[in-house]
Amino acid sequence: MEQVIFDYTRQDASGASCTAHAWAKVPEPLSPDQRRQWKERAKTLLARHNATLVAHYYVDGDLQDLALETGGCVADSLEMARFGRDHASKTLVVAGVRFMGETAKILSPDKRVLMPDLDATCSLDLGCPPQDFAAFCDAHPDRRVVVYANTSAAVKARADWMVTSSCALAIVRHLKEQGEKVLWAPDKHLGRYIQEQTGADMLMWNGACIVHDEFKGMELELLKREHPGALVLVHPESPRNVVEQADVVGSTSQLLQAVVQGGAREYIVATDNGILHRMRQLAPDKVLIEAPTAGNSATCKSCAHCPWMAMNALQGVVTCLEQGSGEITIPESTRSQALGCIERMLDFVARHPASIAKPAQGFVPNVGAA
Ligand code: SF4
Repeated sequence: MEQVIFDYTRQDASGASCTAHAWAKVPEPLSPDQRRQWKERAKTLLARHNATLVAHYYVDGDLQDLALETGGCVADSLEMARFGRDHASKTLVVAGVRFMGETAKILSPDKRVLMPDLDATCSLDLGCPPQDFAAFCDAHPDRRVVVYANTSAAVKARADWMVTSSCALAIVRHLKEQGEKVLWAPDKHLGRYIQEQTGADMLMWNGACIVHDEFKGMELELLKREHPGALVLVHPESPRNVVEQADVVGSTSQLLQAVVQGGAREYIVATDNGILHRMRQLAPDKVLIEAPTAGNSATCKSCAHCPWMAMNALQGVVTCLEQGSGEITIPESTRSQALGCIERMLDFVARHPASIAKPAQGFVPNVGAA
């Protein structure tokens, strides 16, 4: 079975400057009074503009609460895409990173899609430049091109399928059953995990998420010894020696579900620590422990929290609605080409609901505070 790693140097990895730039743009923390005031302003503006807030689990807890209190959603990127597409609102405010705003715009070209900060990007997106990716595809025309959601509209325009971590396994398994060979991009860890699970013939791009890439297998082993009863929950963007120690491997929604449904009291969580906010709300009696990274004093660029997700704040929601700033625009030719791979995924998920994780009891992914 062929498995070739495309030897590509990540743009962002070199980009210490890039993550430094992101951290420099993270708004200062607010006092409790300021948080209340900004939240009220944001609520007023969302209502005035008939806008809906669609937030990712990794963003600031106040934004997640605001989304749920105003009829928006807090979700993983698959659910964000579906929710934004199906909502009647003419303006979507996407609190997350740029590819999420682009996906919303691709699916809903007639809606205005705003983001608190358009500079909020992703190391996977940065590490997969469209021109280089096109050359990679051109060199392997016999393969079905499957890209992770964490890519630019231009990269999606070149793909046959888009997948998220919720549905990637099911879709690659389906392609293997059809006898297809896969060209996968950009996350090498997720790609390796899927290849191992499905046995599919996959040619890999060499990208990584700066958050999950930093979880450490040896330190996790030591932490597990200190908490022998804890269940280990791991996002598959993590390195193999971390994934191998997991009790549950899954997308953010699937990990959340595991905490809500799990019988254990303690959980070691290897994904962005922004998700702990929603986990605590949905499972207040559970003890949540962050999986170890290299730590602040070492080489850690993210220390388990994405700097680009951290750029999203209440102030940004107010500013984008007041000023109409942070609007996502995509050339129509790119948008229409990118639409095909996203619709193919959404159709697949609609036709194979059993292959995607089901919500846990008491788990309300979309509307209303749970
Ligand atoms: S957490 Fe990782 S995959 Fe998610 S946006 Fe940040 S860099 Fe990208």
